[in-house]
Amino acid sequence: MLNKKKILVTGGAGFLGSHLCRRLIDQGHDVICVDNFFTGDKSNIIDLLDNKRFELMRHDVTFPLYVEVNEIYNLACPASPIHYQHDPVQTTKTSVHGAINMLGLAKRTGAKIFQASTSEVYGDPIIHPQVESYWGNVNPIGDRSCYDEGKRCAETLFFDYKKQHDVNIKVARIFNTYGPNMHPDDGRVVSNFIMQALQNKDITLYGQGTQTRSFCYVSDLIDAFLLFMDTPKEVSGPINLGNPVEFTIRELAEKVIALTGSSSKITFAPLPNDDPKQRQPDISLAKKALNWEPKIHLEEGLIKTINYFDNIIKNS
Ligand code: NAD
Ligand code: UDP
Ligand code: UDP
Repeated sequence: MLNKKKILVTGGAGFLGSHLCRRLIDQGHDVICVDNFFTGDKSNIIDLLDNKRFELMRHDVTFPLYVEVNEIYNLACPASPIHYQHDPVQTTKTSVHGAINMLGLAKRTGAKIFQASTSEVYGDPIIHPQVESYWGNVNPIGDRSCYDEGKRCAETLFFDYKKQHDVNIKVARIFNTYGPNMHPDDGRVVSNFIMQALQNKDITLYGQGTQTRSFCYVSDLIDAFLLFMDTPKEVSGPINLGNPVEFTIRELAEKVIALTGSSSKITFAPLPNDDPKQRQPDISLAKKALNWEPKIHLEEGLIKTINYFDNIIKNS
């Protein structure tokens, strides 16, 4: 293959990482998948294990890693609030020490490096929709801070390695994404609602369900990752990546019930601390810099995701 690369994907056994590894392998590249299996699972990449261009390494990115690669996608970090709040110190270490180690690796090898940052850098945003120039509204000492501030510090490190060491960085601020390979017990809203609906259990709406999110289907997001990595060196971001169509969480619950034909009832549970009230990406920059916008509508993506979880339940 022309232009075959050796590519490191950290967090490669997780939801997004497993889709990314598969796409890179399909393109003919060599992939090193690094994961400590905190939230990821071998089952997400089971079909890749026999591929001679795919290598799986159990490793924690808070420790140094010496491999020779051309590109790095740094995705290692638990993304669901229940998981990242389970061991908040480790979450901050993963974002901050992980970024330092991966940036050190990029500096030494000259590899391009992509950072999976997040819409959480905007906290509970006052500017709506969120543009990249907005600095955010983040509580530095709350339940979500280990994730939000860890990711903010990682962004700082990325831009300082660029300024100080001329590292070729690509920083993406990812908004809520869903699809197959989300862990059934992941705790995020799409997997929770679908698993509950398929089993005719109560749908747990936190708060009144008036808070909003904008949901991107995973294949659209992976398209954007690849396009971003291929941009010229001067394109570093941060760039928002997500689907700008905004829904209330209640609307999401109703859609999932309708699409599954479930007899589940909606129940109300307390809203978690610091839960952002609204979130919607402004993707003007992504449209311009990457010539990209999401193609998959929520219903279409939900049907694919429902089929995935339905199979998991049937085979369990
Ligand atoms: P995920 O939890 O499914 O995947 C994260 C992966 O990282 C898991 O496989 C986990 O085992 C691994 N990991 C965690 N800590 C590690 C460590 N110290 N060393 C090595 N591996 C480690 O989550 P995801 O949804 O696939 O998210 C991937 C990345 O994208 C994360 O960095 C997340 O913050 C970011 N992101 C995701 C979303 C989303 O909606 N899915 C939104 C914004 C940002
Ligand atoms: N590092 C790594 N792999 C490498 C190169 C560096 O894990 O291939 C780690 C290294 O352990 C260091 C960190 O990345 O702690 C930052 O590296 P850098 O060269 O920026 O810093 P220094 O080694 O000068 O402290
Ligand atoms: N949520 C909910 N019920 C659930 C899980 C989540 O109502 O079972 C809400 C949650 O309070 C938040 C939204 O759905 O307002 C998205 O939550 P998620 O954990 O998926 O992501 P994040 O809050 O990080 O955007």
